[in-house]
Amino acid sequence: MDSVSSQKSIFSMIVDRDIPADVVWENERIIAFTDIAPKAPVHLLVVPKTAQYANVTELAAGDPALLAEVVAVAQLLADERTGGEYRLIFNTGEAVGQTVFHVHAHVMGGQLTEGSLGFE
Ligand code: AMP
Repeated sequence: MDSVSSQKSIFSMIVDRDIPADVVWENERIIAFTDIAPKAPVHLLVVPKTAQYANVTELAAGDPALLAEVVAVAQLLADERTGGEYRLIFNTGEAVGQTVFHVHAHVMGGQLTEGSLGFE
């Protein structure tokens, strides 16, 4: 593994099929797969394939159409799996729990037991 590939995010490794994932949807620009540690009955990650953007703020500034596409894919998956209703979370920064600095949307649905913002 060279110095460039050693810096790949875990999500770029999934995009490149270096590691497996339960891929549920994909096109040229976006991939969606199930979260490995689900926090809801349905917990998917919708991920732009490009590694250019670390978080949603950067994505919104750099490619708003791609952000809109991420939201459209979230809705499409929710329509298929959660009756069209879902929670969309973009963690932005370590202090709020972001661990992968390759922009991704958490799509959560099903019967969520916690409060509307994830805490009581
Ligand atoms: P965040 O904390 O917002 O950066 O979210 C990262 C998410 O990626 C977490 O919910 C992890 O459970 C999830 N995750 C990490 N590695 C994998 C993987 N290999 N396949 C699927 N989900 C993953």
